[in-house]
This record gives sequence, structure tokens and C-alpha cells, in this order.
Amino acid sequence: MKTKMSNDLQYKVIVGLEIHVQLCTRSKMFCGCAVEFGAEPNSRVCPVCLGMPGVLPVMNKQALEYAVTVALALNCEVAKFTRWDRKSYYYPDLPKNYQISQYDLPLGAKGFIEIPLEIGQTKKIRIIRAHLEEDAGKNLHTAGNFSQVDLNRTGTALLEIVTEPDMNSGTEARALAVELQRMVRFLGVSEADMQKGHMRFEPNINLIVTKDGSEYKTPIVEVKNLNSFRALERSIDYEAHRQLDEFLETSRTMEMGNKSTRGWDDEKEQTILQREKEEAHDYRYFPEPDLVPVELTEKWLSDIRSRLCELPIKKQIRFVTDFGLSNYDAGVLTAERSTAEFFEQAVKAGGDPKRVCNLLTQEGMRLAKEKGLSIGELRINPKHVADLAKMVDKGDVSASASSSIFLNLSESDKGPWALAGELNLIQKSDAGELEKIVEQVLKENPKAVEDVTSGSKKSKKARGFLLGQVMQKTKGQANPKIVSEILSRKLS
Ligand SMILES: [Zn+2]
Repeated sequence: MKTKMSNDLQYKVIVGLEIHVQLCTRSKMFCGCAVEFGAEPNSRVCPVCLGMPGVLPVMNKQALEYAVTVALALNCEVAKFTRWDRKSYYYPDLPKNYQISQYDLPLGAKGFIEIPLEIGQTKKIRIIRAHLEEDAGKNLHTAGNFSQVDLNRTGTALLEIVTEPDMNSGTEARALAVELQRMVRFLGVSEADMQKGHMRFEPNINLIVTKDGSEYKTPIVEVKNLNSFRALERSIDYEAHRQLDEFLETSRTMEMGNKSTRGWDDEKEQTILQREKEEAHDYRYFPEPDLVPVELTEKWLSDIRSRLCELPIKKQIRFVTDFGLSNYDAGVLTAERSTAEFFEQAVKAGGDPKRVCNLLTQEGMRLAKEKGLSIGELRINPKHVADLAKMVDKGDVSASASSSIFLNLSESDKGPWALAGELNLIQKSDAGELEKIVEQVLKENPKAVEDVTSGSKKSKKARGFLLGQVMQKTKGQANPKIVSEILSRKLS
């Protein structure tokens, strides 16, 4: 994806991503403290996560299992033998002065993720590594002239995923972030709630500029700590333009060690320089002496592998090819696992895929949004939705009546037939019965009949009038398609 500025100037945006995902374990990575968003500051801490002398960490097995699950879903090679390392640095939200992480033996390496591009197309982004670590606390700057530290988050299980610089725009980086969110939610290993800071992004951005036949690389900029898809996309777009401007003004290109760090100002929509000439940090990594190395047995790995669900991107593609849904609709249905599974159950129960899809993406989504739930959580029986879809297809109820029936399905255990009966929404499709009513209407309105049969200017209007009369006589319950057919036959 090259952008051409003129005949002798082209540039290509190069983006790599580092993503942190908080795993949804009940307790922290190396102690028994509860993981709870919004708890009173410093109320979910203990001597282990506060880094008191003499305490010993114990690994959370669930966190390891979740991390392995993601590594497998990301097509990584999973290390059979791995260990913990200390990454030393000082910061007020890190009471131990080191973070337990994984350095040279990450849990997963050399994987890839497929991200959706335009209709039906995907792009493979290579994953360099995925490793487990503990999170730091939070510095709060809301108390006026001084800062406060909340250590509730200290020690929660965090998965760090690093991609190769395989993306070429803010849009692609956003697509990867959204895909990863959908994936970890499908796998049930993270709530991936952006509002709660469960996913954080750090893109590395630079340009390859071709000018007068020569190729130049602009210095890499890392944007720190982004916590929304929007900020991720916009900061990359902003950087691409800023770097191009800087290159054109100064011809500044990449030298060793001139990678810089910038922050993102959400209000001004600009990146702001934090540190220039970032040297490789000396974190003095060394193996964590308080934790034993981790050995993964083949049996445990294959157990986890066998529990892996179909990934959302695969499901989306399959919904398009198997059921003929649009890529957009398939995307809506696979945004959440419970919705995708609900759709599949309704189709399995005999509902026409497109009809079921319409019911779910329209009434279903509206209702789910209203209640702050997913479609799968609405306590509707998928079989009832399948039956309702069949009723619409056969003309037993109109499409508009089906929406009020759908809304009632969530309030009641009754099926759509019973509800349609109670609500007086069943359409009269009995041709014999409707024929009698049509005959009566024709007899009562000779003028309109003449207007239609004589083919006068008023023909169309008169025909509509007759149809309206039939609908009135049946209190709106006649199947308009069948009435129309009878009218055509009688008036021809
Ligand atoms: Zn603790």
C-alpha cells in the first residue's frame, strides 16, 4: 500500500504493534488477591503483590492456561519449557522495583493472526511473540498538586503480544486490535473491555519514502499507552503525516538509536514527544529465583487445543460462504460468541439463514442493546426464532408483525404461534376464504372495478382501493400477496 505524492515521491507506512491484554482470572498472577475493577484503591493487595521482603510468589495456573489458549489461537509455537525473568526498573506504581515477565523464553512465538480487510479478504500479520507477565499499579493524577498510587492492579495477569511490522495503515492496525478483542472474548480468556483498560496498544510507526529513485526510512516512533481503537488508528495516521512532513523539511532518516517515544493527546489529536534517542533499556533481566521454570506436558497442551473453539474470523467467512450472508451481517453476528452460536442453533432448528439473520441483526440487536446484554443472553429459545422465520417465509405473519412477536419472545416462554394468536397477528392465507371476501368487495364497488378493467387512468388507484377494502374487512390480517393474486385473477 504505497501512497504516491508525485512521480518522484512515494511513501509506505510501516506499523508494528505491541498489545497488552488483561486475562480474566479471578485472582492475580502470583498471589491470591482478587482482581476487581473499581474496588476501593489499595484494598486488593497483600504482602506478595506489595513486594514485601521475604514473600514468595506462586504461579496462577489458570493464567498460564489462558495464555497458552491465546498462543495456540495465534498459531504460535508454544514453548514446552519456559521460565520467569525479572525485569528491573523503578517506577512508583511498581513497589518491588521489578516486574516478573518472560524474556528469552516466551510462552509463544512465531505465530500469525488473520485480520479482515475488505469484503471477504484477510491479511496475515505475523506474531513475533506472546508472553505472560504481571501488570503494574496505576498512578492517579486527579488529586491536585500531587499524585496518588493505586496498587490494586499490581500483579494482575497480563499477556503481551508483539507483532512484526506487517501493517501499513491505521485502519489495518485497528482491524488487528478489533480482531484480537473478538478473539480473546470468543476464547473466554479476557473481557477485553476497553473502558476498564483491559487492552492497551503501543504502535511502532515509520515510513519508507522513495524519492528521486532512492529509498529512505524515517526514524521509528513508538506511541505509548493507547487505550482505544480510535486513538490507535488516529495516532498512526497522524504520525505518518508528521513523519512525512519532517522528512521533507529535514531529510531526517533512520540512524541507530534514534527511535523516539511519543504520547497521544486525545483532545488535540496529536502525538507529543516524550523521549528522543531512546537507547535500548537495560532492564538487567535475570531468571526469577523465587519461581520454578514451567514445563508444559503434551497431554495438557492437547487438552487445551481440543477445547479451542472455531475462531470468529473463520466463522464470519463460513457464514458468508455457507449461508450467503453479506460480509457485514456475518461480522455483526460474529462480534460475540453467544450471538454467533444463537444464530447457528436457530438455523439448525430449520430457520432460513437470511431470515434468521434479519430477525437477529434488527430486532435482536435492538433489544440486546436496550437491555445491555448480548443476544445469547436474552433467554430466547433459538427454536422459537427458527419457527418465527418460517412463519414469515410462509406468509403466516407479515415481516412487520414478526418484530413485535420477536420482542414478546424475550418476555415469555410461549412460542411464536401462540404469541401471534394472542396478538391477533396471524395473516389469513386461506385462499378459499379470502376469495369470498374479494368477491364481496368487488360486488360492493362496481365503480372501482370498472376503473380497473377499463384500464383508465384511475386503474392503479382503484386497484389499491380494492386491496385496501379487503384488508379492512379482514382487520388487516389478510396476506396482501395472496389477496393481490386473487384480485389480479378476478380483474383480468
Ligand atoms: Zn496480592
